Amino acid sequence: MDGTLRGVVAVDGPSGTGKSTTARGLAMRLDARYLDTGAMYRAVTLAVLRSGLPLDVAATSADGHDDIVAVALGASVSVSTDPAEPRVRLDGEDVDAEIRGTEVTGAVSAVSALTAVRRHLVAEQRRIVAEALQDGAGIVVEGRDIGTVVLPEAGLKVFLTASALVRAGRRTAEDTAAGRADAPDAGTDLARRDELDSSRATSPLQPAEDAVEVDTSTLDIEGVLDRLQDLAVDRDMIVGFADAGVGSHKG
Ligand code: C5P
Repeated sequence: MDGTLRGVVAVDGPSGTGKSTTARGLAMRLDARYLDTGAMYRAVTLAVLRSGLPLDVAATSADGHDDIVAVALGASVSVSTDPAEPRVRLDGEDVDAEIRGTEVTGAVSAVSALTAVRRHLVAEQRRIVAEALQDGAGIVVEGRDIGTVVLPEAGLKVFLTASALVRAGRRTAEDTAAGRADAPDAGTDLARRDELDSSRATSPLQPAEDAVEVDTSTLDIEGVLDRLQDLAVDRDMIVGFADAGVGSHKG
């Protein structure tokens, strides 16, 4: 038995570093809930695209765009926090596949740069986490600003990194597996999103001061999970660990 997580693990980092696989895998391993905040930004972006409003995808402006903000705030987005089945719904419709598509991926950074959109989704994210904690569950939350803005009090903050080559390779493999023949060149697209996400005025992508950086370039998923589990054990965040006998823990 690996033990059960108590409290919050924040997993931040750019695309292609293995955030989703890691965060979801850790939640499964430690019997915790899982929140994919990127899916929430993607779902409101889909609502904006469906509204037909023109969207300047190069925008890094934090304010204005009142019409886009109104659609984003009016969208009813619900996410399940079960790591075995992390579904995303927009106005009741399962949009899990559509939000990973090329169109949403191309537009999401512009929508998520808007301060009013962020304020709205951050409040919702905090509500979901508070509910989990109230229920006595632990939760693993992945995103770009979890350790810095959404949950700066998280018991463990991890910032995942990986080399540009490895990240692009992972994204290409994902696109191929999902049959996305129209996907743009992975390296170019990741660089474009990194630039937008890191240069925006509100909550840019950056590691929290007290985040532990984990480079996933040369680790497989079990290696990354072992490392995160050790970090959580070090912080006394795992109940039942004494029985677990995880060999790599240094005590
Ligand atoms: O993690 P994922 O690639 O699904 O995130 C999609 C986009 O959502 C990111 O490129 C970023 O623009 C935005 N995002 C964000 N803050 C978060 C999570 C995602 O701005 N906490």
